[in-house]
Amino acid sequence: MKYFNFKPGVMNALDMHKLFNLAKKNIFSLPAINCIDTNSVNSVLFASKKKRTISIIQFSFSSAIFFGGFFYKKNSIKSAIYGSILAANYINDAAKYYNVPVILHTDHCNKENLPWIDGLLDHYNHIGKSLFTSHMIDLSNCSLVENIDICSVYLKKFSKFNINLEIELGCTGGEEDGLDNTNINHDKLYTSPIDVFYAYNKLIKINKFFTIAASFGNIHGVYNKNNIKMRPLILYKSQKFIKEKLNINNNKLLNFVFHGGSGTKESIIKESINYGIVKVNLDTDIQWHYWEGVLKYYLNNKYFLLSQIGNPEGKNKPNKKFYDPRSWLFFSKKNVIDYLFYIFNILNCNNLY
Ligand SMILES: [Zn+2]
Repeated sequence: MKYFNFKPGVMNALDMHKLFNLAKKNIFSLPAINCIDTNSVNSVLFASKKKRTISIIQFSFSSAIFFGGFFYKKNSIKSAIYGSILAANYINDAAKYYNVPVILHTDHCNKENLPWIDGLLDHYNHIGKSLFTSHMIDLSNCSLVENIDICSVYLKKFSKFNINLEIELGCTGGEEDGLDNTNINHDKLYTSPIDVFYAYNKLIKINKFFTIAASFGNIHGVYNKNNIKMRPLILYKSQKFIKEKLNINNNKLLNFVFHGGSGTKESIIKESINYGIVKVNLDTDIQWHYWEGVLKYYLNNKYFLLSQIGNPEGKNKPNKKFYDPRSWLFFSKKNVIDYLFYIFNILNCNNLY
């Protein structure tokens, strides 16, 4: 199915919201893939082009630093700003060469790291445009009032550059990027519709370019999730609550984001798409497939990878073509791409253009 004609390159928030409206209408969702380097970015661009989908490429604070090749601790805010700019410049060009539209986003930014986003905004002011489609500000550890007060300030700043704001309500459990919520009170893992309405009401007065990561039992990472129940119905209840409060005829007014998508049952993902999940975050499963490609390559070629010279075919035979990083990175990327094809099917997002 062909839905639209977006230009290749990084989309702005206006186009992104048009796409989200199409997603809600036609029951699909977009994959948000945490990237760390050009290999992961290229895998996403290649897979997206092949299946004619639009992916969301996102960087966490530490992944932005990693992309730039900087040391984590040293001037970490500055390194995150530079790393994000380097990554964004690469992707803005690469998406055009691959001839694919793409959404570019920064993942969880907590209160302490807000100077990261401030630095990016300074850069946009300097160059006269934004390099990203969207930024997330995660103040789920603050009170609801403080969370939305600070987010309102940023949404106003973002409007100058047509940038979307992703907020978090409730709390995603588990651990990701040094953010540890593994011992959190389970009540916080479920957002109340009243809180969602409060946030919506405040933010919509500024503009409509925001998305909401409302927690419904989601956990970052992949482990035994049996002791915590995912309740996508919370999303449905929030949509219904807002519909009744505003007295409108729209069952899916809100754009919800699914954090901790890795390791989630297909049925839960599909159910949540019905309730307005337009973005599904995938980090841990991408990490695994990136690694698993190398693992399989190693296990298949082990005796050609233990020394530079000498293998089962002869003690003086060179192993150069086996340990050439392009050999094993190829299988790493291929494994990620195959996994993305599988995810695109679940999210029903193939053949969008
Ligand atoms: Zn997350």
